[in-house]
Amino acid sequence: MLYFDHAATTEVYPEVFLEMAPFFNDYYGNPSSIYGFGRESKEMIERSRVQLAKTIGANSREIFFTSGGTEADNWAVLKAAEMNQDKGRHIITSQIEHHAVLRTCAFLEKNGYEVTYLPVDEEGIVSLSALEKAIREDTILISIMYANNEIGTVQPVREIGEIARKKGILFHTDAVQAYLHEKIDVRKEQIDLMSVSGHKFGGPKGVGFLYIREGTLLPPFIRGGNQEKRKRAGTENVAGIVGMAKASAIGEKNFDRNHEKLRDMKNYLIRRLQTEIPESRINGSLEKRLDGNVNVSFKEVEGESLLLLLDMAGICVSGGSACNSSDQEVSYVLQALHVPEEYIRGTIRITLGAENTMEEIDFLMEHLKAYVKNLRENS
Ligand code: PLP
Repeated sequence: MLYFDHAATTEVYPEVFLEMAPFFNDYYGNPSSIYGFGRESKEMIERSRVQLAKTIGANSREIFFTSGGTEADNWAVLKAAEMNQDKGRHIITSQIEHHAVLRTCAFLEKNGYEVTYLPVDEEGIVSLSALEKAIREDTILISIMYANNEIGTVQPVREIGEIARKKGILFHTDAVQAYLHEKIDVRKEQIDLMSVSGHKFGGPKGVGFLYIREGTLLPPFIRGGNQEKRKRAGTENVAGIVGMAKASAIGEKNFDRNHEKLRDMKNYLIRRLQTEIPESRINGSLEKRLDGNVNVSFKEVEGESLLLLLDMAGICVSGGSACNSSDQEVSYVLQALHVPEEYIRGTIRITLGAENTMEEIDFLMEHLKAYVKNLRENS
């Protein structure tokens, strides 16, 4: 099998698995217990918090563990809205956010809030002047993703942070795809709230965190015990947290090497697609883009059929986005980019990981060329 769907999820690194294992049956004590056995787990949670905080220029007190990116997004948007309801009820986001943000905003709209969905340009980037124009007296939150999960475009986060801080508006960013792919510094970028998910960078599924800038009085998301300073109650997913922190340490150590390798592989793949498959287009900015993301459309090709053929050859790629691939709808992200009708259905998302090789890309290219030709001839 050749795996080219790292934006959907990643393999747990073997070192991560080994680090997690003792927390299932050797150190299974409850971190809230007083005796030493539970303290072991508690200490590892705190060490993990320090490791994760370090990678984004935060203090460990600002890291709150969640069940993943979706929960972190829900917490940030819902509770920022609740916290500021007396100040105002207007939220700004973008048209290309993940469903975890978009559907939370839609829920708020049904409950008395107004949401502005900023468009993006043909490169998939939000306009700063449109953002400034959209800000109102009653704007309480700006939620704009760091990098997009379908097309990999990276937003001007630092500039957005500057605008938000100047206006005294909370700034949340969904960094699920960007974490450990981009160099993130929450202080320099003036981010107040940021979502991260463990399974996108070699950690396990079902764990993530929300960065909450110190001084931001975000209300609790889950009530119950005293865990996570009473903001997110429930016995901690100790093994998950330890695994996510280990994956983060590995990703931090290999950052430059991975960055370079992914960039070279991505450029090589894009070059070959552009020169060897006629009537194909790469969607989203080529410069402001995550390393490893290649979102490509083939004119007059049925993307679903292409995915199936690739699958039969043992090649995993995604159609648009993993979150969209089970429903047959056309991607709202590609629509926001105004990808032409005759291209939009023939879109696949190839997301590379550091363990992929140039030989694997050659293998993928040979199959893509043959299948696209075949599907066009038989349509
Ligand atoms: N936000 C973005 C941009 C994502 O890509 C994803 C997952 O695909 C999520 C949020 C949801 O994260 P999780 O799977 O941890 O709930």
